[in-house]
Amino acid sequence: MFKGILITNGDSGYNAQLRGIDETVLPEGDVSVGVEWSTLNYKDALAITGKSPVVRRFPMVPGIDLAGTVLESTNPAWKNGDRVMLNGWGVGETHCGGLAEMARVKGEWLMPLPKYFSARQAMAVGTAGYTAMLCVLALEKHGIAPDDGDILVTGANGGVGSIAIMLLAKLGYRVVASTGRSAEADHLKALGAVDVIDRSALATPGKPLGKERWAGVIDTVGSHTLTNACATTQYRGAVAACGLAGGMDFPATVAPFILRGITLYGVDSVMAPLELRLEAWDRLGRDLDIAKLDSITREIRLSDAIATAAELLKGKVRGRIVVGINNNA
Ligand code: NDP
Repeated sequence: MFKGILITNGDSGYNAQLRGIDETVLPEGDVSVGVEWSTLNYKDALAITGKSPVVRRFPMVPGIDLAGTVLESTNPAWKNGDRVMLNGWGVGETHCGGLAEMARVKGEWLMPLPKYFSARQAMAVGTAGYTAMLCVLALEKHGIAPDDGDILVTGANGGVGSIAIMLLAKLGYRVVASTGRSAEADHLKALGAVDVIDRSALATPGKPLGKERWAGVIDTVGSHTLTNACATTQYRGAVAACGLAGGMDFPATVAPFILRGITLYGVDSVMAPLELRLEAWDRLGRDLDIAKLDSITREIRLSDAIATAAELLKGKVRGRIVVGINNNA
């Protein structure tokens, strides 16, 4: 038996509970990992609360990220004692995940813990930070340089948004942060934003084309926010869309694409190929300011994760949450 959060969906309804879990619950996999740190991402909060159908198999251990030590392996790539990390691959959705003392996974999903980070720091980055870097890479590969103009980051106080601001600012871009929490404007400026706008300016239906404002956009919100971001992106600019915190719809016209030649990049972290993951994590190691990362990281215990998931969906969490799996303090 080991301790973890287990989600069930039986006669008594959808339920997430911290409890003892029998090893037989764990799916097949060639590597067992002793989990030391995990995180709470937006998707984990959806899974724990059941607010969206993130979990596809029951019973399920949530947690799309994990970091820890290999306990047992029949995969030649890994041996007992290796320090490893995992982001995505359906873990916490279709395969038991990281919010428990133990996980059994496919060896090909694991990555060595990046040399730049402790296990706790790697989870402070987590899927949110790795996705922020995938968005930055998409804009860079499009050819957007700091001199090209402002970069808009939406959902700025969230995990992806906060880390995107930090990364872009460090790389020399001028970042404009869009947030519903204008009281946090000074905090966002301390992370590197040069300007902060209220998210209501982007949240309602706008014109097919607006004034050209952004060289690039990282959008975590979706819906009208993404539509308006595209409509105000400058000629041949690019938008990296990764989130749906404001809605899954995309009520857009083709005008920005066919009249301004803008490009919309879809960013997926879950099934991203290993080569891209390694590139993103290497860049995170070089371009992320660890002191700033620490300043946006809140540590909780596994026993706090269910309550904190509800808080996160209410937009009350700022930055990143790390979960100390064996932390009883
Ligand atoms: P967080 O909950 O940490 O942040 C989301 C932020 O979005 C909030 O802090 C808030 O920022 C803003 N927000 C919340 N509700 C609304 C709303 N109704 N309208 C407009 N803005 C809102 O989540 P993450 O940063 O972890 O994830 C952000 C999004 O990216 C999620 O949709 C998530 O599912 C997605 N994601 C996608 C990945 C992929 O692979 N494509 C990977 C990781 C995340 P503020 O208070 O500043 O307005």
